[in-house]
Amino acid sequence: MRDGGVIRGRLVLDDRVQPGRVVVEDGWIAAVEADPSAASGSWILPGFVDVHVHGWGGHNAMHSATSLDGMARALLHRGVTSFLPTAVTAPLDDLRAFADRVRAWMPGAPEDGAAPLGFNLEGPFVSPQRVGAQNPAFVRAAAEIAFAELEPIVDGFRLTTIAPETPGAIELIRWLTKRGVVVSLGHSVATAAEAHAGYEAGARSTTHLFNAMSGIHQHTPGLAAVALARDDVYTELIADGHHVDRELWPLILRTKPADRLVFVSDGVDLAGTPQERGSLGGLEVQVQGDRCTLVSNGALAGSVIALDTSVRNLALFGLDMPRVAAAASANPLALIGVTDRGRIAAGLRADLVELDDAFNVRRVMRAGRWYSGPAVASPAA
Ligand SMILES: [Zn+2]
Repeated sequence: MRDGGVIRGRLVLDDRVQPGRVVVEDGWIAAVEADPSAASGSWILPGFVDVHVHGWGGHNAMHSATSLDGMARALLHRGVTSFLPTAVTAPLDDLRAFADRVRAWMPGAPEDGAAPLGFNLEGPFVSPQRVGAQNPAFVRAAAEIAFAELEPIVDGFRLTTIAPETPGAIELIRWLTKRGVVVSLGHSVATAAEAHAGYEAGARSTTHLFNAMSGIHQHTPGLAAVALARDDVYTELIADGHHVDRELWPLILRTKPADRLVFVSDGVDLAGTPQERGSLGGLEVQVQGDRCTLVSNGALAGSVIALDTSVRNLALFGLDMPRVAAAASANPLALIGVTDRGRIAAGLRADLVELDDAFNVRRVMRAGRWYSGPAVASPAA
């Protein structure tokens, strides 16, 4: 049904859960009304937004327009209604080609897929010492390049990861910020002072908190400590229970303001497939259960979850539902400056996810039209 009509259930609003109904007209939310009789209905959340995802369902964001189609469709069934296809560190020519490909694909992106909002480049201006599962051969220092080389990439370029302590990084953060590209600090060995300098230069987020970054040590605090201590910066969390142990979740939830936590999947193309071997940026990876690691050294290499798993994990962990929903939808959108969706409120795009009592996706509404949830439940994590 094109219009969507009226959706009843436990509506997860900005500051409370309200039994009620959402009236949808022409793909937009026309009204949100209280309805006490909906108190035992499904959970209704805003559609999820994944700003850091490399692939899904057997499709790699960097391969082709066809793989972008497949990735968008696979993500939608998991409740992801908007996303940023994300490149890993690669030669600049490849990143320029990726940018061209995503931009050319966006206007015709499938209606039955998650909607693209631009793209994310996770590198190449990262620390060679914290390259994680990216290919160290393609890491560059900002000081080595003329920033004009990046000008052809800027259109549609929404988010990137930079290590603030690397040569030329602060100037590049300023240059990108001025052009509207959001910088996230990460893949970094920054000292606390270097991390502060990166944020002061304009960086606003933190790439997969605790992973591939200097951490929390009582004498030598690094990027993770600064990211938690500063209320003004966003932090990404891969909430699969592997990238950040659950023992650390309370520390994150108590330190980060409700509007500064951002769930990301960091999903790779093996996610949502039965395959156990594949490659990430030219490096061989393997999947065992719900962990994806480099074959060479066993390091975690992206995840095989989508945001539905993050939402379920944090809901079951006891985080209140408005905060869960904000981290999955409103916060990532606020980070990249998209204002027409991501909350259940009149006037916004009708992107919704219906969850059952166990927080599994039942069905997904994208711009007023319903799509089915996943054929199989998300991996337990
Ligand atoms: Zn990543």
